[in-house]
Amino acid sequence: MSPIRSLAAILAAGGLALTAPALVQQAAAQAPAAPPAPPLIDWASIQIRTTNLGNNTYMLEGQGGNITVAVGSDAIIMIDGQFAPLSDKIKAAIRAISPLPIKYLVNTHHHSDHAGGIRAYAAEGIPIITHELQRRYYEQQIFKSPHTLNQDRLARAPKAPVFETVKDKRVLTDGTRTLELHLMRGNLHSEGLLMAYLPKEKILIQADAFAPRPGVPPLPAPSPYTVNLVENIDRLKLDVERVVHVHGGSDPIATVRAAAGRSPTE
Ligand SMILES: [Zn+2]
Ligand SMILES: [Zn+2]
Repeated sequence: MSPIRSLAAILAAGGLALTAPALVQQAAAQAPAAPPAPPLIDWASIQIRTTNLGNNTYMLEGQGGNITVAVGSDAIIMIDGQFAPLSDKIKAAIRAISPLPIKYLVNTHHHSDHAGGIRAYAAEGIPIITHELQRRYYEQQIFKSPHTLNQDRLARAPKAPVFETVKDKRVLTDGTRTLELHLMRGNLHSEGLLMAYLPKEKILIQADAFAPRPGVPPLPAPSPYTVNLVENIDRLKLDVERVVHVHGGSDPIATVRAAAGRSPTE
């Protein structure tokens, strides 16, 4: 998603309120008043669908990037947070999987289909793990704006967000399960793009570096994002069987390698 579309989507999601009085004045100065634009997305109609990926790992689909939920012995880690208007439904879907508390929200990158909802988790004091480059954006854009036009829980009960950052790699473990977070070096989609890897389960979770396009003719050349994804997997020597796409379900690693232009033996 481009930064401009991304911002538009955040605004549509009510995730980032423009506080500028100038905007209000500008709107008031426009005559005659235009009828209010219909909502771009009918949030009320969106349901969260849960898919069990096995090994106490689940994928939640709603609108925007899918959320991966890894259930450990005493807590849950979720990867990405979709849009703010869906936060209550997402939390209910997670509670239906397990009553354990959410220990961390891992954020792959700042685009609003992945990060639009992070304020709802910050409001509950859930730490957000993201790349150090993303943190700056959140602190300056998402958490500094007072949200006066569209108050959310965090605006009503302000609380400093808790960030924990990743540079190249971070390993989270509860003694029974391990989740690794890796920087996707050199990926052009977003600076500081993180991917998550479950070594025991051989599952890789990636955002926006590959999205299957069923029924659509193959691209004339592999996407540089996907080429970079495979390069990062190889660089880190990750033993991956299945790749969970934050957009578009999951595939065996061979499908992703083929999409990157690799032959089955490469
Ligand atoms: Zn993105
Ligand atoms: Zn995305």
